[in-house]
Amino acid sequence: MQTYDVVIIGAGHNGLTCAAYLGMAGLKVKVLERRDVVGGAAVTEEFVPGFRNSIAAYTVSLLQPKIIADLRLAAHGLRIVERHAQNFVPGLDGRYLLAGEGCTQANVASFSRSDGERYEAFNRELDTAADLLRNLVLQAPPNLTRGVTLKSMRELLKAGRLGNRIRRLPTQSLSAVFDLFTKSAGDYLDGWFEGDLVKALFGFDAMVGNYASPYTPGTAYVLLHHAFGEINGRKRAWGHAIGGMGAITQAMARSAASHGVEIETHAPVREVMIEKSRAAGVVLANGSVIRGTAVAANVDPKRLYTTLVPADALDAGFLRRMHVWRCGSGTFRMNVALSELPSFAARPGHAATDHHTAGIILAPSLAYMDRAFCDARMLGWSREPIIEMVIPSTLDDTLAPPGAHVASLFCQHVAPQLPDGSPWTDHRERVADLMIETVERYAPGFKASVLGRQALTPLDLEEVLGLTGGDIFHGAMTLDQLFWARPALGYADYRSPLEGLYHCGSGAHPGGGVTGAPGHNAACAILADRRRA
Ligand SMILES: Cc1cc2nc3c(=O)[nH]c(=O)nc-3n(C[C@H](O)[C@H](O)[C@H](O)COP(=O)(O)OP(=O)(O)OC[C@H]3O[C@@H](n4cnc5c(N)ncnc54)[C@H](O)[C@@H]3O)c2cc1C
Repeated sequence: MQTYDVVIIGAGHNGLTCAAYLGMAGLKVKVLERRDVVGGAAVTEEFVPGFRNSIAAYTVSLLQPKIIADLRLAAHGLRIVERHAQNFVPGLDGRYLLAGEGCTQANVASFSRSDGERYEAFNRELDTAADLLRNLVLQAPPNLTRGVTLKSMRELLKAGRLGNRIRRLPTQSLSAVFDLFTKSAGDYLDGWFEGDLVKALFGFDAMVGNYASPYTPGTAYVLLHHAFGEINGRKRAWGHAIGGMGAITQAMARSAASHGVEIETHAPVREVMIEKSRAAGVVLANGSVIRGTAVAANVDPKRLYTTLVPADALDAGFLRRMHVWRCGSGTFRMNVALSELPSFAARPGHAATDHHTAGIILAPSLAYMDRAFCDARMLGWSREPIIEMVIPSTLDDTLAPPGAHVASLFCQHVAPQLPDGSPWTDHRERVADLMIETVERYAPGFKASVLGRQALTPLDLEEVLGLTGGDIFHGAMTLDQLFWARPALGYADYRSPLEGLYHCGSGAHPGGGVTGAPGHNAACAILADRRRA
């Protein structure tokens, strides 16, 4: 039987990133993926005959430039383009806000002069905080360790360096960073602006994958999390991978394979093998054993510790944390095939213009978002849901037949588990109809243009993509599950309570999103341990 240096469970973009770096370092690596396709939540699939789309993750920004360069993703076929306008936020009163290069401030000012005047200062503040976070993304956070050892001294030094970097910020920036890490997005944005649409523009980022009211403390962090990215050097911009998100993971797989990594699909892992308290490989669902000196898990921590690692190998306190790890981002995802582009009541016309390439936010105020959350808690879904619509075929002609289009509907605020206990399968089509009707309110005629659709409930996201509770981030991005507490205090450095077992997915720092960072950082930890051994 062959023994690998590292066996990776899951070929999501982080598993592939980790594999590519380990392969580059000369290690013998095997990646095992339960689905018939690599990519995890970053895949492109045909969802209606003739129409392809990124069926889950749908837009790029957070993918780290270092990873794009190190893995030579461009040479492996990846091309990322920017949207022509960043966001379009139509109201129901016929007005709209368009955000894009050189036009946002004037548009914001057209609703409120004082908002227009504050806009640049707001951006500077957000940029300062985003720069701080950006510098922390590709490294392990200081890890909480006990005793006086070389390791604990190293962690203390790291915490000191971080403290020093924060301390050097001007007082005003320091207080902004503190606000963004602790406050609600609603309180934060109300402190800056008075216009509903500008607050909705930024407030939406706080709702992405975050089953909470915009007035829940801690939601401002999720806004900040969506600000550390860039597209082709332009900070905080969002864009599109030609060929869809699957183009990113296909390029990653090619990169990994070019370094000798073996990738096997249709290979669900049933169990992590533990021998003498250390990970020794995995057992597949079909019973075959694949041995590895180390095992890296791209699956979320709840799934890893409550279904794949034998319970008796774990400390009861740690296992309890994993049982209560909060997974459930409240997401409903649709892909629609369209005969024509939507014409918005606020900006009529079917002919492609910049706003069609934007992230189209259908949620015109923070109060609307708050109601959506309260509704979902009571009823299971919001009667007026939050939707971001993106129409990638306006930037990419590989996805739909000529003249037709595909759109992603990222719908936020459905209950991960329905309050009456009924299964999501009973409500999928009804809620999908509601999402289409919601778009119709902003773009009359949209419903008639839908040629076909795919609807993914939280249960579908779990069953199809392996996301526990349908959580798009592998676990809520709340202060208790972030940074040195992701996935648990003492295990934020990609290592686990079991020697030889590592975390390389979004359940580790810096969390969810197509960043590649957990995969990169886990590879660094694995390589460091091999050097020390
Ligand atoms: C609907 C949706 C929309 C999103 N939109 C965006 C977006 O626009 N932009 C963005 O940056 N991020 C977005 N995200 C978040 C982002 O896609 C994820 O956080 C990220 O892709 C997770 O990557 P990962 O590699 O850590 O894990 P995953 O992509 O979840 O990969 C884990 C892999 O492990 C496999 N697996 C699970 N169990 C086993 C097993 N037992 N054996 C073998 N393999 C197993 C799974 O099949 C999967 O391939 C979105 C996510 C979703 C679901």
